[in-house]
Amino acid sequence: MSSGMTMKKKIVLLPGDGIGPEVTRAAATVLRETAHEFNHEFEFVELPLGGAAIDAAGTPLPPETLEVCRKVDAVFLGAVGGPKWDALPVGKRPESGLLGLRKGMELFVNVRPVKLIEPLRGLSPLKQERLGDLDLEIVRELSGGMYFGERGNVAENGVERAWDTESYSTPEIERIAAFAYRRAESRTRRLCSVDKANVLTSSQLWRRTVTAMNAVYPSVKLEHMYVDNAAMQLTLKPSQFDVMLCSNMFGDILSDAAAALVGSIGLIPSASFGDRAPLFEPIHGSAPSLVGTDSANPIGSILSATMMLRDAFGLSLEADWVEQSLTRVLSAGYRTPDIAEPKARVVGGSVFTEILREEMQRTFEHAERYGWGV
Ligand code: NAD
Repeated sequence: MSSGMTMKKKIVLLPGDGIGPEVTRAAATVLRETAHEFNHEFEFVELPLGGAAIDAAGTPLPPETLEVCRKVDAVFLGAVGGPKWDALPVGKRPESGLLGLRKGMELFVNVRPVKLIEPLRGLSPLKQERLGDLDLEIVRELSGGMYFGERGNVAENGVERAWDTESYSTPEIERIAAFAYRRAESRTRRLCSVDKANVLTSSQLWRRTVTAMNAVYPSVKLEHMYVDNAAMQLTLKPSQFDVMLCSNMFGDILSDAAAALVGSIGLIPSASFGDRAPLFEPIHGSAPSLVGTDSANPIGSILSATMMLRDAFGLSLEADWVEQSLTRVLSAGYRTPDIAEPKARVVGGSVFTEILREEMQRTFEHAERYGWGV
């Protein structure tokens, strides 16, 4: 079975801290197996980031880590942070290594797909009739808006006042909107742009700019929604959405709300893009309490690896192969403890990954039975 040419890719792995190394191993297993079966050449470079880098090099983002990440084809990150480094000042903590990495890699868009995995339908906190066929993507602006705007803090006459500024320029909005329109074009051609244009001037520019760009992408059906309504609609009927385009802050909030709809933080992948290498990472943190128990769910990490295959390398067939194998493993009842359901076959994260690897091989060997081209 082949998707065409052999691909040579250089991939950085940043395992980080806590459960980061465990879930990174799962992603690397999937990528290695893919390269092996489909005759691609993936070269892996492992580098320190976060607390691991503080311990090894005295800084959460060693210059060599950033330098290499900027030059390769794709970067995979596990998670950073943990109690060991919590007492450090804010700019020196593991998390600042991640923020520095995102900035240094010039990433301006974050994509978080929230898709129901059919065998896990029962995990959602939503009633089945509300859940429908949940399959949406939140496209979040990552390098502007309130989180990077002008801020201040003053005390006058014994009263303290603090402020942050939401500010976007037309080119910043155009850049992220173009990405979201293209994403919608490759899916079901529906784009919902989220704003608060009834109150915020920055949102009015956002809405005008996104509307004007519809002329460039006429096949996409554009809808605007106020962020408060979007939050409500996500809970009432999430299947109405395809691609949701959000500013940095609105995307931050809505993407966590959307992630909750599938039932576990351990299930969700993400990808960030800019003008250099893309970054792929599960959305969860380093879950310090799970370290050493082999109970971290590797699925968010595995799906981040399939996003890498599909979105960074254009290897859709390979990504489909992994995802279909994963669905079969779940259909067979295997679960990590966070998604254990009655009568489930509960296994540790590393065992789950090994079962998946075997299933991927089986799919390959019985390509015809599973409807694969040989
Ligand atoms: P967390 O995501 O680590 O954990 C939240 C909850 O989800 C915990 O109950 C945890 O056990 C569970 N959980 C997380 N990932 C899981 C997985 N794969 N499988 C099963 N259960 C999982 O968030 P937190 O507790 O707020 O933060 C812990 C540390 O992680 C902190 O140091 C924080 O700064 C850091 N953090 C890092 C990132 C990142 O690296 N991208 C993101 C968020 C938090």
